Formats: sequence, C-alpha cells, structure tokens
Amino acid sequence: MAQILLRGRTLSFLRWPEDTNDHAAYRYEEDGGLLIDGGKMVAAGSYADVAAAAAEGAKRIDHRPHLILPGFIDAHVHYPQMGVIASYGAELLDWLNTYTFPEETKFRDAQHGRRIARLFLDEVIRQGTTTVSAYCTVHKQSVEAFFAESHERNMLNIAGKVMMDRNAPEGLRDTPESGYDDTKALIAEWHGKGRQLYAVTPRFAITSSPEQMEMAGALMREFPDLHLQTHLAENRAEIAFTQELYPWSRDYTDVYEHYGLLGPRALFGHCIHLSEREADALSDSGSVAVFCPTSNLFLGSGLFDYQRYRRREKPLRIATATDVGGGTNYSMLRTMDEGYKVIALNGEKLNPLASFWQLTRGNAEALSIVDKAGTLGVGTDADVVVLNSRGTPAMKLRMETVDTLAEELFLLQTLGDDRAVAEVYVAGKEAKSALEASVP
Ligand SMILES: [Zn+2]
Repeated sequence: MAQILLRGRTLSFLRWPEDTNDHAAYRYEEDGGLLIDGGKMVAAGSYADVAAAAAEGAKRIDHRPHLILPGFIDAHVHYPQMGVIASYGAELLDWLNTYTFPEETKFRDAQHGRRIARLFLDEVIRQGTTTVSAYCTVHKQSVEAFFAESHERNMLNIAGKVMMDRNAPEGLRDTPESGYDDTKALIAEWHGKGRQLYAVTPRFAITSSPEQMEMAGALMREFPDLHLQTHLAENRAEIAFTQELYPWSRDYTDVYEHYGLLGPRALFGHCIHLSEREADALSDSGSVAVFCPTSNLFLGSGLFDYQRYRRREKPLRIATATDVGGGTNYSMLRTMDEGYKVIALNGEKLNPLASFWQLTRGNAEALSIVDKAGTLGVGTDADVVVLNSRGTPAMKLRMETVDTLAEELFLLQTLGDDRAVAEVYVAGKEAKSALEASVP
C-alpha cells in the first residue's frame, strides 16, 4: 500500500485542556501534514516537514481548509438497537421490555445480524466515529456478525455477547454455563484478531443471576486483558429492583464489586445516581463511568454530574457515548452538544477544547487504547476524521464571526452532524467517501 499524505489543519490533544486558553494541552498546525503508511501514522507536524519525509509516490490528499482530527470514539452503544431508536414514551425498564427485547430476539438469525452490523458500521463511519464499544445480543451469532463486519473494514472495535439469564423473555436468555462457554469461544475466535477486542458483557445485574455474575467474574480472572461492559445506576426503578435481587448488597455498585467486575477496563454505562461510597469504589478501582447524554435525556434517567465526578477528591475516569438506541443520535458531535447541556443543567460548563479532548483522546484513555487510537501520535493507527466547519449554510454563515479554534470547535459541536464530516480514514483507508461511492 502506497503512503498517504494528508494536508489540512491538524489537531490532536496531549492532555485535558483546563480552559479555552490552555494551548499547551493540544497540538494544532494551521498548515499541517499527516503521513500514513501501512495503516499507521508515521509522521505528523507542519506540512512542509511531513511532506519532506514522504516517499515520492505518496498519494497526496489536500483537505484544506478542513480540520483533521483523530476519529471519534463511542464508548457505549447497542448495535442491535438500530431498529428501536426513536421509540416513544417509556422509561428504562419498560423501554427494554416493550421495544428492545422484542427487537433483539431477531438476532438469532445470523443474516439479520450481519445486515444490521453492516448498516450500523456504515452509519458510525458517516458520523466520524472510528471506534465503538458495542453490546451485541445474547446470541453468539450476533457477535460473530459484528466482528466479521468490523474485521472486514479493519476497524478497531470492542464488542461482546450480552449475558442474561433472567428477567428477559424466552429466546433472549442464556444460562450461566452457555453464557460462559459462548463467551469463551468468542474470545478465542475474535479477541486480538486484527483490531478486534472482546468485552465481557453482562447486560446488568437485573438480567443476570448470581451464578452468571460469578461466571462473568471468572472470565475476567481468566482473561484480565479483556474489557468488561455493563450498566450501572441509570434509573431509580432499576436501582430499587437490583437491591431486591441482591438484598445483601450495600448498594448497586457493590453487586459488581462483589463479583470482581470493577477495574481499569470495566466500563459502566450511565452512573447517574451514585452514592459517594459508590463513586469512591469506582475511583479506587480505576473503573470508567460512561456518560450517555442523549440517552439519559431521552429516557428521562437523570443528569450525569460530569464536572463533579471529575473534580472530586477521588475522581472518576469518564468516557462519553451515544448509547444508541436509548440514545437518539449516532453522532458524537450531537452527543457532546447534549452533554454540554446536561452539564449546564448541573450549573457548570464544559469548554470546547475539553469536549473534543473527551471524544478523542479522553475516550481512548478511558478505553485503554490510547496507544492505538484517539490522537494523531506517530505509531498509532491511522483512524482520522476530517471536519468541515462550513458543512451547512447556517454553519458557513456562523463561521463568518468565528475567530478562534475553540469557537470553531464549539460551533462544530453545537451545529455539526454528519454533514460536517468531510472524510473518515479507517487504518489509513478512505472510508466515508468509499461508502458514498458505493451507494447505488
Ligand atoms: Zn446501554
């Protein structure tokens, strides 16, 4: 594969930006270059320097005046829920029973899984997202479908078979043994194959028996480099039901703690209603709280207290995510816009530099993949998004009065969506324009 040399305004974060004047937190090149070889970034910096390092036959692509950033990362999403996004009128537990569970039963059909996995990954790429951490369904074939589609595109994705053996309809339950065996077989086949990573995925404490929770803990002890993903403290009724099912537990977090599921690779979706003890337990174990603003607003679950979690004496590691289909948009730009509003309702602000740190480097750090994704760092995989801040007529007009990079990013977050995504590269290959070229 020939080298690719991208030209544009490059932006990559080095650390959390304290405020809009914290220029040391990022690297920005007004006339920047990015050299890609064999799917990896091999040089980044000023275009003049990078061009000098490029081979003569390198393919040169000029994206000026657009911004070139690391691809966005979505830390919690349910790919089988494409068919239930935008379903009216329920809170979490009703929403699962009324809409989600019937839809997920369709994934016993491998063909259906493959079709939805394909459409799902097409959609996230159109939105500028290059990595997701995805829930599949209880069916082993739903995971095979997802990984097969992801591997074919050479995407870095994390996914796992949902484990649930109770409080779910017939046809959507495994058993502690089958959940364990299927998970183990999937790990053997997919974890570390190309860029695929496996996550042990008990849906949440309500749908797993104590025996199944034991099995999830056993898997994490056997395979300590795996991720674990589940849900925690999203909704009051969910918390009360969990307390009934695990009467010995001090609180909801204690259930996961008891089975050894906390840790630096554990991703807990929502974490809205946490006691101080629970937040301390998550912090002490290095666990990640995943903020899903469009979902939390849509289902009326509550307001994630991002800034307080970040600033508390024992801070939480935080990721952000769409949580489609409880979430209402595939776009991480739309997600951070809604995140900004949730944080505002808590009486705080999230500065635009921090917001773009979060959806690139911040999410990569939270998922422990920053050596591969989330920056334009040399040696990392070339997953890149190209953003057009004039993607719509209204954005173009607003850009007339934008003077700083922070203002431009805030405009992108507030008004941007897939129309602001000019191109996406997955492991150095043009992915968004390739999709558009293949539309009949
Ligand atoms: Zn979820």
